[in-house]
Amino acid sequence: KTVCVTGASGYIASWLVKLLLERGYAVKASVRDPKDPKKTEHLLKLEGAKERLHLFKANLLEDGSFDAAVEGCDGVFHTASPFYHNVTDPQAELIDPAVKGTLNVLGSCSKASSSIKRVVVTSSMAAVAYNGRPRNPDVVVDETWFSDPDLCKESKAWYVLSKTLAEEAAWKFTKEKAIDMVTINPAMVIGPLLQPTLNTSAEAIANLLNGSQTYSNASFGWVNVKDVANAHIQAFEIPSANGRYCLVERVVHYSEMLEILRKLYPSSHLPQKCADGKPFVPIYHVSKEKVKSLGIDYIPLEQSIKETVESLKEKNFIG
Ligand code: NDP
Repeated sequence: KTVCVTGASGYIASWLVKLLLERGYAVKASVRDPKDPKKTEHLLKLEGAKERLHLFKANLLEDGSFDAAVEGCDGVFHTASPFYHNVTDPQAELIDPAVKGTLNVLGSCSKASSSIKRVVVTSSMAAVAYNGRPRNPDVVVDETWFSDPDLCKESKAWYVLSKTLAEEAAWKFTKEKAIDMVTINPAMVIGPLLQPTLNTSAEAIANLLNGSQTYSNASFGWVNVKDVANAHIQAFEIPSANGRYCLVERVVHYSEMLEILRKLYPSSHLPQKCADGKPFVPIYHVSKEKVKSLGIDYIPLEQSIKETVESLKEKNFIG
């Protein structure tokens, strides 16, 4: 079978390509710049790549850019979307590539020959949990929750807004065009890096180990990149998979994350103080019910943290 992965050089996508090749798929991988070795070398080295990996050049903001990459595929995994926080023009840097880019990819899918059975889109918990409803240890967030774009705009949460609007647009488009779509909605993704560059979610761990004095007063969900990649494939392969899937092994406050790091690496220099003096932002829960049907047995957070740190060390992103 042949599948397309958009944004193949990215953190999650690199794992997705690796697991797809391991499962025997032929992979049409889109990258922005196929000539940049930093974006492709690690993919070309994967087992099976010589025989079954084909690179395509495509940009989210160029209409029709993905036509060739999705043509003739049985499935499409759309992961490409910018994920970083230091933006000067949120519309141009985050929202347009996320929203117009998703519609661009889905547009190519709707034009492609009818071979495409399903499109799996990498959405995010950012498109689920940001709606002003209380979040505390008695609350279980699940797939019925949707983030509120107005609240995102008010709080200038531009990345969160980009993912919320992109998923909303994707559901509208796929309903109109009768495309079978499933979304995967992970929280912060960690675990080993295959690519040579540092991505935003792994950087959150690197920052804790790189001598910062304080830690954020925030509680986030975390999940291992291998579980996220596997969930994408399962969502494509299992015919009854449908709708959205939240992916969170555990929600912890940064203070708890640091406790885990302290136990694993007692001699490391970790921040001692919370960045503000306010009460800790509470944790909450995320339902694991629906994702069970994808056969995901989550890698525990402790192991995910350890794998991340080992990988960050090996790649010299931390001392
Ligand atoms: P990366 O930054 O590693 O990957 C992002 C990918 O998007 C890169 O391949 C990048 O290409 C591509 N991209 C960005 N802009 C464009 C563009 N204009 N045209 C074509 N490609 C573009 O991030 P992740 O692997 O972490 O993220 C992948 C997906 O997962 C995103 O949709 C993100 O929102 C989602 N996600 C990530 C989470 C996380 O914690 N990591 C959590 C939840 C969701 P290039 O390499 O050329 O820059």
